[in-house]
Formats: sequence, C-alpha cells, structure tokens
Amino acid sequence: MNKSFDVAIIGGGMSGIILALSLKERGVDVCILEAKDRIGKKILQTGNGKCNILNSNLDILNYNNTFPTYALEKYNVNALKEFYKSLGLLLKEDNEGRIYPYSESANSVLNIFLERIEKLNIPVFLNTKIEKIYKEDGLYSIYSKSDIYNSKIVVLATGSNATSGINSHSIYGAFGHKITKLEQSLVPIKTNALKGCSGVRSKAKASLYINNKCVFEENGELLFKDNYLSGILAFKMSAFIARAMVKNDTIDSYIEIDFVPEYTKDEIEKFLNQSPLSNPLNGILHKAIALNFKDSNNLAYDIKHYKCKVEGLYPIDNAQVVSGGLDVSQFDDKTMESKLSQNLYALGEVLDVDGQCGGYNLSFACASALVAKDSIINKLCK
Ligand SMILES: Cc1cc2nc3c(=O)[nH]c(=O)nc-3n(C[C@H](O)[C@H](O)[C@H](O)COP(=O)(O)OP(=O)(O)OC[C@H]3O[C@@H](n4cnc5c(N)ncnc54)[C@H](O)[C@@H]3O)c2cc1C
Repeated sequence: MNKSFDVAIIGGGMSGIILALSLKERGVDVCILEAKDRIGKKILQTGNGKCNILNSNLDILNYNNTFPTYALEKYNVNALKEFYKSLGLLLKEDNEGRIYPYSESANSVLNIFLERIEKLNIPVFLNTKIEKIYKEDGLYSIYSKSDIYNSKIVVLATGSNATSGINSHSIYGAFGHKITKLEQSLVPIKTNALKGCSGVRSKAKASLYINNKCVFEENGELLFKDNYLSGILAFKMSAFIARAMVKNDTIDSYIEIDFVPEYTKDEIEKFLNQSPLSNPLNGILHKAIALNFKDSNNLAYDIKHYKCKVEGLYPIDNAQVVSGGLDVSQFDDKTMESKLSQNLYALGEVLDVDGQCGGYNLSFACASALVAKDSIINKLCK
C-alpha cells in the first residue's frame, strides 16, 4: 500500500478523526495513524458513556489559558452544532448547558464517524504507534516500529495518557517543542475528609483554597469515598489543583465545605436549638456525615466551615484529562501550526490546553481540528 500522503494525522481520537473527515471531504489525501487496535476508543468512555460533546457556554475562563480563544470564537457553539448536524448527529442540551448526542450514547457518535470514514475511504493504519518523525527536504518521515510513512504535513493528535496509557508529546521534541509539566486533572481529590462516609453524596458549597487564596467556589454535589472526594464539584476543583501543580513544585491547599449553604449560621443555630431530636444534626445531614461532628462545640459554624486538607490527586488512570502538554506559545492559535517547523500541527489535548468538566475538552478537540483544517486547505489549495 502507498505510504505517502499529503497529510498524516497521528492519533485517531476525537480531534484526529474530525480533522481527517473534514480534510477528506475537501478531497485532501489524508491518513490516520493509530497506536491502538481501533480508533476513537476514548470517545466511548466520555460523559459516562453518554459523550458530553459540547457546552452551550464556551467561555474561555473554563480553560487553563487563553490559547483556545480564536478557535472557539471561529467555531463557536452554533458553528460546532452545525458541524455535527452536517454529520447527521442530532444533539440535546441539559439544564446546565451540557450538550450530548440526542441518543445519549457515545457509541452512536463513534459509529457516525466510522461510517463516514469508510464512505470517504480514509486510510486508517491501526496498531501503528508512531515513535519518531524526521524532516528532510521539506518532507516528513514518520516512523513506527515496523514502517515509515511520508507526508508533506504532519498533525500530532495523540491526546494525553489520561486512561489511555500513551503519552506521545515527546515526538515533537525533535523539532524543539517544549513540554510543560503534566498533571492528571478532572479526577478525585485525596483528602482527609470525613470518616465512615464512603459512598455518601451531599449537596454542598465547596470553596477551594490554594496557597491561602480562594480560587473556586460553587454549589454542587460531592461524593465522599475513603480518603478521597469525588463527584462533579471535586472534579471541577481538581482542575485548579492540577493547574497549580503544573506551575509549582509544591502547593498548600484545602477545601472548605458548607453543608447548608442556603442557611446562615444563626438560622442553623436557632434550628438546632429548637430541635426535639437527641442528635439535632440528624435532622439536617446524612447520619454518617453528622457523626463526624459529634465532638463539635460549635455545630452551626462547623457544618458551614468544614475544612479538609488536599493531599494530592488520584492516579492518572482515574483522570479524564491531563493538565500541561506541548507549550502553546510555540503554536499559532489561529491555525494550530508549529511556529518552529512549517507544516507541523498539533490538536486537542496533546497541547497544553485543559478544560473544565462539562464538554469543554471535546469542544476544543473539535474546534482545534476545524481551525487546522482551514489552514491546511489554504496551504494545499495555493
Ligand atoms: C473517562 C473519560 C471521560 C471523559 N468525558 C468527557 C466528556 O464527557 N466531555 C469532554 O469534553 N471531555 C471528556 N473527556 C476528555 C476527552 O475525552 C479528551 O479531552 C479528548 O478525547 C481529547 O481528544 P484528542 O483527540 O486530543 O485525544 P484522544 O481522544 O485521547 O485521542 C488520541 C489518540 O491518539 C492515539 N495515540 C497516542 N499516541 C500515539 C502514537 N504515538 N501513535 C499513534 N497513535 C497514538 C491514542 O491511542 C488515541 O486514539 C473524558 C476523558 C475520559 C478519559
């Protein structure tokens, strides 16, 4: 089989697949080189199998830096919805702005991609883990263990090792690209929080302090586990912890939980004083949580200001994304092309871009692919 292409995309995840589809639609000679035995494996895991593909509010504040601004303005929510519609995918939004396929099935998203790839006859090389790339006379040679592929343009769309176990950022090291420190993100947080509460969920307000500064405060759900905090609020806080860990060798961090955010301390105090129960807290909190306050002399205050120290983040194989990646100052945010080597691109999570829970990572994967598509079409059609 011919192994020379105009564009070689390394990585058949969300961003690589979208770029391949949108280039081939325009007649570009493109292939996908994928390390695993099938493409799109991570897509199946997203959104607990429902694939939270987009968010109706793609505010840049949901990302670790402003690099995605251009891509998310050019390919804003409406443009991305249109793009998915053009692939035949109907979407629906929940009441918090998270957008899913109407089927609520990540499988249906991947199946739509696979059908299109087959129809467009895009060459996909599976079990092809790329190890290095060289550039000679303006052309790239891309090496797996057993094969060499040649292309005018190379796109690194290898994501991160969050759950996939593969970390391929260093492939671009040969071109002078720097990699920032990598930390797992969107992951449970190790803490000394509450004893005997594993499996208990609680609606609460959580405030995250890093080096004595409050960096996050939100109402939502916490899930207590032995020695760690999980649930959507914990995942959101983990993004801030990971980003701080990328920037600093050590951080000092704690979480303050308000178990009764709708009430003032005085209101709670009054309620507790009038309670007919032997343990008045049982009338407010889950029994297992209430037990943790049995020695408190100031119950109303303590259940509004419960503090637990952040001891770290759970291991990478529990994480949804990685904070850190290829240094974005070395890439053009309007094209995703390297500033160090012409015709070298990077997309999605391999870049030092991480978004919050809520569809922000798949949104950037898609928008970055579409911005790169515009640039590549421009080049090849000149
Ligand atoms: C459990 C889980 C749930 C998630 N849920 C959501 C969600 O609901 N919404 C959301 O927005 N985000 C979610 N994410 C994050 C999101 O899936 C990723 O940010 C997104 O898939 C990144 O897309 P990508 O194309 O950059 O990389 P990936 O989708 O990770 O694809 C990278 C591909 O490159 C391949 N590869 C790696 N190295 C090589 C190599 N050397 N040679 C060849 N191929 C290689 C990998 O095998 C993989 O197929 C979730 C992640 C996980 C793990």
